[in-house]
Amino acid sequence: QAKEIGGNRTVFYNTEDTDRMNRRIAIEMGLRPALFLRQFHLSYQPIYRLSDGRLKGFEALIRWQHPELGLISPNEFIPIAEYNGLINPIGEWVLREACKMLKGMTTYGLNELTMSVNISPVQLQDASFVQTVWNILQEFGMSRQSLELDITEHSTMHSSKLSITAITQLRAGGVRIALDGFGAGFSSLHHLMDLPVHCLKLDKSYIRRIDLQSAERHVVEAIIGLMRKLGLEVVAEGVEYKEQYELLQKWGCHYVQGYLLGMPLDPTVIDMSMLASCVPTPGMDELEKQTA
Ligand code: C2E
Repeated sequence: QAKEIGGNRTVFYNTEDTDRMNRRIAIEMGLRPALFLRQFHLSYQPIYRLSDGRLKGFEALIRWQHPELGLISPNEFIPIAEYNGLINPIGEWVLREACKMLKGMTTYGLNELTMSVNISPVQLQDASFVQTVWNILQEFGMSRQSLELDITEHSTMHSSKLSITAITQLRAGGVRIALDGFGAGFSSLHHLMDLPVHCLKLDKSYIRRIDLQSAERHVVEAIIGLMRKLGLEVVAEGVEYKEQYELLQKWGCHYVQGYLLGMPLDPTVIDMSMLASCVPTPGMDELEKQTA
């Protein structure tokens, strides 16, 4: 029950607030040792090229298996790691693991595949970040073009010059840069044209709405057309239905990613021989089966 206790003390009004606060504390305390206790792992979600249905590469997505709280979504713990600065060592671990994975694939002759890694705005503000990227690429003997760094609009709109400098240096050095979650925030086209990015990832909230006979489908079609004219590539995220896949293909979207084509996969279930044959996206019969 709420009580007037005076001073600067915090008063919790209900058990929900208390539970939420306890969970946050547990996450914050658990994050520090999670790295050396090897509680993180990466899942890899395939990205396909729409023109020929072939595999373009993977996006690495972090997972945290907490000993008491179970699997925690990155949407929940990444903001906390950003707040307490642990995103820097965690992000470096992600980058190294993802590069190691891609290196493993290249031993099967898959030299064309790319690996996308999410980068937090906080990492971009770390003065040593760019050098860390070069070191890791060198460590695994990887070509710079095989790495794609997914940055958020937040990184580019509200952050210091340091972030823009880092992005510019990375791009100039050969790494691919993708603007993640385009459309989810308040994207400004004017701002976009100034950014040193190769690729735009259309947010799944947009893709979800193209099922409907709504104005949004015209918006998505127009965005794809515009990006093509600007020389940018487009990845559609969150493709779940055959209808979305077909529309995106018709509109000239370059790449697709989503549950329809492949869930985020544990590395142990990624079948290297399957990758070696560069399996095309499911044919329409198979898509129908999956969406049935
Ligand atoms: P994101 O970069 O937009 O990643 C795509 C998210 O959409 C992933 O969620 C993925 O599992 C999910 N997804 C993929 N296909 C579909 C689909 O067809 N339908 C739906 N509804 N969802 C789909 P996840 O893995 O929970 O990651 C959430 C967010 O956490 C990511 O969004 C990214 O912003 C962040 N994140 C994940 N891994 C990392 C990381 O290593 N570092 C950083 N800084 N952020 C990360």
